[in-house]
Amino acid sequence: MKNELKIPAGGAEDIVHPQVIPFVLAHLACFGAIWSGVTWQAVVLGVSLYWLRMFGITGGYHRYFSHRTYKTNRAFQFVLACLAQATAQKSVLWWGAKHRHHHLYSDTAEDIHSPRHTGIFYSHVGWIFDKKNDSTDLLKIDDFARYPELVWLHKYELVPAVVLAVACFFIAGWSGLFVGFFWSTVALYHATFCINSLAHVHGKKRYVTGDDSRNNWILAFFTMGEGWHNNHHAYQASARQGFRWYEYDFTYYILLGLSKLKLVSAMEMPPEAVLKNEHRLTARIINKAAADLAASFDIEQIEARIRASLPTLPNSAEVQACLEQAQTRAADVLSSLHLPHVPTRDEVEAAAQRLLARTPSIEDVVDRAHALVLEKLGKRLAQV
Ligand SMILES: [Zn+2]
Ligand SMILES: [Zn+2]
Repeated sequence: MKNELKIPAGGAEDIVHPQVIPFVLAHLACFGAIWSGVTWQAVVLGVSLYWLRMFGITGGYHRYFSHRTYKTNRAFQFVLACLAQATAQKSVLWWGAKHRHHHLYSDTAEDIHSPRHTGIFYSHVGWIFDKKNDSTDLLKIDDFARYPELVWLHKYELVPAVVLAVACFFIAGWSGLFVGFFWSTVALYHATFCINSLAHVHGKKRYVTGDDSRNNWILAFFTMGEGWHNNHHAYQASARQGFRWYEYDFTYYILLGLSKLKLVSAMEMPPEAVLKNEHRLTARIINKAAADLAASFDIEQIEARIRASLPTLPNSAEVQACLEQAQTRAADVLSSLHLPHVPTRDEVEAAAQRLLARTPSIEDVVDRAHALVLEKLGKRLAQV
């Protein structure tokens, strides 16, 4: 590939995508305001375009094209796609496919933008320009890839943004372009990217979701409700992400207005059990949460303590022989030996209460995590 630009992304693979260039230029264009000046007309244009296009991202890219949380007609679907792509965040097909992948693997090693695995910079912006994330898995978004107008927008993804930039110039001159278009576009980039980075690091976890998603009221304000990200990971199908009356969700309020105009229908709402946090978790979430809980135990340190205490046991030779034979049923053997320092189920439960949010499935998570701890520890002890 020609004109490759290499920027190292902390710990992750090199970013070698030429689209870094327009992205960097968009940031540099913001400084054009020093030359053009900042007019009130341009500021009003920029602020309006920020909120209008934020709805394109939240109501379009995210709640419609990624999650289908409501229905609309084909014409308004196209309007939503144009509004979303006027932010220059690639096509709705690319965005939706990548986002569906994020929910399938959130905060595992497969996740394309997990701060846990790739660091905050890469999860914020680096992943977008990583060559391996350039292609669009159309199978993941085949429900929308069958519309030719969306495929056209996919092919010419920058058209809506360029048209808007030109319009800004004609409306408010150079200041309209630099302040009205570029300032708001760059602000939109980073507000959106904060959901992938900060909303998986800072905030509160109301639900056990098996990932690091958080509810963050500051992000919720600037992203019109997307900051209630832990709620969203708990029930992705919902058109509403602020589950409580005080969790402002401007995207949802706009969708409600659009439903009154009959442009939007069949908005999915979270079930009562989810709102009350009384729903049972799926086996996949239980396993993910249990693995995280088990990982909070320092197995190496526990193993060292057990090994140090083995010679002091009255039946130490017998215990050692037993452990050595326990390669295959490590966890069973370990639980039957009653060794000191082996974490008890109560200890795992105490860790769960400290680390996890409330859920009626807590017993299942603790059982699974306890088994994992015993298995890991048993396997280590069984090695001479
Ligand atoms: Zn989502
Ligand atoms: Zn997320």
